[in-house]
Amino acid sequence: MAYDGFRESLFPTYSPPRLDFVEGRGAWLRTADGREFLDFIAGIAVNSLGHCHPRLVKTIQEQAGKLWHLSNMFDVPGQQELAALYCENSFADAVFFANSGTEAVECALKSARRFHYANGAPERVDIIGFDGAFHGRTYAAVNAAGNPKYVEGFGPRLPSYKQCAFAEIDAIERMIDEKTAAILVEPVQGEGGLRVLSPEQLTNLRTLCDKHGVLLIFDEVQCGAGRTGKLFAHQWAENATPDIMALAKGVGGGFPLGMCLATRAVAETMTVGTHGTTYGGNALAVAVGRAVLEEMISPGFMARVEEAAGLLRDGLEKIAARQPEKVVEVRGKGLLVGLQVRVANTAVRDAARDRNLLVGVAGGDVVRMAPPLIITDAEIARALVILDEAITATNLPEA
Ligand SMILES: *Cc1c(COP(=O)(O)O)cnc(C)c1O
Repeated sequence: MAYDGFRESLFPTYSPPRLDFVEGRGAWLRTADGREFLDFIAGIAVNSLGHCHPRLVKTIQEQAGKLWHLSNMFDVPGQQELAALYCENSFADAVFFANSGTEAVECALKSARRFHYANGAPERVDIIGFDGAFHGRTYAAVNAAGNPKYVEGFGPRLPSYKQCAFAEIDAIERMIDEKTAAILVEPVQGEGGLRVLSPEQLTNLRTLCDKHGVLLIFDEVQCGAGRTGKLFAHQWAENATPDIMALAKGVGGGFPLGMCLATRAVAETMTVGTHGTTYGGNALAVAVGRAVLEEMISPGFMARVEEAAGLLRDGLEKIAARQPEKVVEVRGKGLLVGLQVRVANTAVRDAARDRNLLVGVAGGDVVRMAPPLIITDAEIARALVILDEAITATNLPEA
């Protein structure tokens, strides 16, 4: 490996392109040499209100002049208020604040096991999920998702984590036994290729969890926070509320914030000392988190996300229809969408970037888009033109 001063002091875990972004506004990023990029990946579904949203800038500046951090050995101002607002707008009765998605998942997994332990079934420890899942990078999260690429080289696989073929509801029911603690799924798979569980599938999961005394955990780290046009993606389904839900990414709008939401029955088993975090839910994080949530639940916000999502999806369908030899189908839901392609998805991403549009990839053959939720019609139109050009410019692999 030749080191030439570019990132040589960093772990080589990432390989970003050489772009020196210095400023962001809304859906736009600017480099030091003045190039403007349209951002359709938004920090991987994180900058939900765009870059430097005026309300978030003001909120963080004001809070920064008052109080940053106490640790959870004291009552952090703003935590109860933000938690209560999330509970009002969800199935949940209580919230645990963390800093990231993988920590939110960690709390979800521990809470599920603890619930059974406290209810006289300590043998219920197994967690079952679907293939192609992604839950973050802690040891528990990579084992829960089971992606061989992310567990290789890190010692023995953790026991008690099982995967089922994607969306096979009957098969997952057959895997449930007296040792099962919970089913853990993403209502819309993010990293796994934007695969969506239908409302019926979500409802069926709820039904079978009830039938077998198993908890239902939704990982909405990527598809929550308004991404699909509802505050949470599972809200597209009737009667499919989880017992536990992990949130992060978009809920902090760019400030590190994760959350584990749960019903009272689950949360009350996580008694004093059973779990904790030093940073989680500090005063800065919950101040920003509250501003983000208040924007998202303001009148008309979700209707606009749905409208923008419809426009983007129509445009993607048109590209798919125009370039059927290269595009397999449109994937995803709301503003977490993309194209499954027969050309290299990374080549399309790079060709789009060469044309000043930033997109991501997912699942090996999907080009992923997750623009800020405040994206405008004009920005969507521009992105579609560039994406179409990028696909046109990308050659199919030779047969
Ligand atoms: C990104 C992601 C995570 C992990 O979040 P981090 O903040 O990177 O730890 C977990 N679950 C899903 C569905 C995600 O998309």
